[in-house]
Amino acid sequence: MAFQCQRDCYMREFVTSVVSCCPAELKHEVNGKKETLKGFNVKLQDTILFPEGGGQPDDHGLIGDVAVLRVTRQGPDAVHFVGSALEVGQEVQVRVDWERRFDHMQQHSGQHLITALADTMFGYKTTSWELGRQRSSIELDTASMKPAQLKELEEAVNEKIRAHVPVTVQLLSIDDPAVEKVRSRGLPDDHAGPIRIIDIDGVDANMCCGTHVSNLSHLQVIKLLGTEKGKKNKTNLIFLAGNRVLKYAEKSYSTERSLVSLLKTGPDEHVEAVDKLQKSAKLLQKTNLSLLRDMAVLIAQNFKNDPERGNFFSLHNNRSVVSLLFDRKEGDNEFMNIIANEINTEETLVFLTVGEEKGPGLFLLAGPGGAVSELGPRVLELLQGKGAGKNGRFQGKANSLAGRGEVEALLREHSQRRSSGEE
Ligand SMILES: [Zn+2]
Repeated sequence: MAFQCQRDCYMREFVTSVVSCCPAELKHEVNGKKETLKGFNVKLQDTILFPEGGGQPDDHGLIGDVAVLRVTRQGPDAVHFVGSALEVGQEVQVRVDWERRFDHMQQHSGQHLITALADTMFGYKTTSWELGRQRSSIELDTASMKPAQLKELEEAVNEKIRAHVPVTVQLLSIDDPAVEKVRSRGLPDDHAGPIRIIDIDGVDANMCCGTHVSNLSHLQVIKLLGTEKGKKNKTNLIFLAGNRVLKYAEKSYSTERSLVSLLKTGPDEHVEAVDKLQKSAKLLQKTNLSLLRDMAVLIAQNFKNDPERGNFFSLHNNRSVVSLLFDRKEGDNEFMNIIANEINTEETLVFLTVGEEKGPGLFLLAGPGGAVSELGPRVLELLQGKGAGKNGRFQGKANSLAGRGEVEALLREHSQRRSSGEE
């Protein structure tokens, strides 16, 4: 198996012909949603679009002006999934999405280099690797890696890049004794033809089907970002190669500028500034919570101290005030329950609401058991709400507090009837 993209990894355009074209479906994910696309599977005489393999994702590109959405390998063939049919026998120009491909070449050759040096310097074998959209990782067979080792490894790989070491492809027949000496993670079952060896001069020889740079200098630079704990006592080494380092620096700088203007401090003080902010926000929240509790108690005491208070108490609190202080739903309920607890509801009917003036909100009705179970369903109706009650308390959610005035009138009238009945 050798495609034109493997013989010449730098070829961006290529003329070939269509060998076959059959209707097909492609399952793929767009923004996390699974979709099935209808289209065609096309085989070409040869191709410069790499089908995925060796940890390297497939290429994107064009056949004529038809976009290639996916390239997979079927035995010795590359299968291109396209949206519209192509005529068999037709001569076509194939173009590769070079930005995507060159990025893959930088990450893949970078991986070979890091893998080789991690082995020769520390004896850490690579067990797998992943070329991600943002960053790539190499799974090393070691429980941990010291920061000093990471630094030493980063220096060594970048020194090899500065030494502009050539990278060549050798083709060996499968019975060549040299094949035995080559690092490998196994051949695919349907492998055919000679063995392809990627040779980084004097550094590494590795069996691989991927597309690679022709010289380490084309990697520009490698940044080892750090390590993460991997599966089964292994370590994942996170790295960026080539243009990704520039993009990362650009993004970091733009984030840094935003933080400078938000935090009004230089980059070196950012962590300290955020830590301070978080601590003071927590403290403010705690203080506000206790102030609001005190306020609920005072509201109730104020009512109790009023000689003209009668036997009905009603209060509406704008949600913007209460939830700003509590920063959570339970806060609203707690506020209402504190007031209801402070007032003697054996003699007083209490009606409390929290929420937007004429929008949704929460309500609480408390009072003598008989009155509450009689009035509760009617209150629910007027507030278009949902709720339930027991032991002299009826509370729930209101879809609209626009009916509050009507509820108050109803409750006031009931209270007046009750007090004149008692007298
Ligand atoms: Zn490889």
